[in-house]
Amino acid sequence: MSEAAMNPSLSPTSTTHVVTHVRKELSADGTHEHIAGVCTQDGTYHTRREVVERIRAGETWMTSAAGYEAEIEPIVYCPQPNCLATPYIRTRPYSTRKDNIENLDPC
Ligand SMILES: [Zn+2]
Repeated sequence: MSEAAMNPSLSPTSTTHVVTHVRKELSADGTHEHIAGVCTQDGTYHTRREVVERIRAGETWMTSAAGYEAEIEPIVYCPQPNCLATPYIRTRPYSTRKDNIENLDPC
């Protein structure tokens, strides 16, 4: 069964990937951890850059955890001060719940 068939809200031509976990890495200056990549429902790891490139190619990437869902959007830099990690991804950056991709469990 296709993803569209399982999720009637999606158009038949859209490709949607559901992210359930994230992997973090220490920033270059050692001040914080930021997202290095994500893991999808089937456990596959994808780098941040790959996710951004695939969103730009027309795919939809979203998070789903603890009953919260959010669409992932590309941003240029990690939002932490003076961090030049690029490209970067976010969902709802001010949320303290799991609709903020920063709060997903590690994979
Ligand atoms: Zn950073």
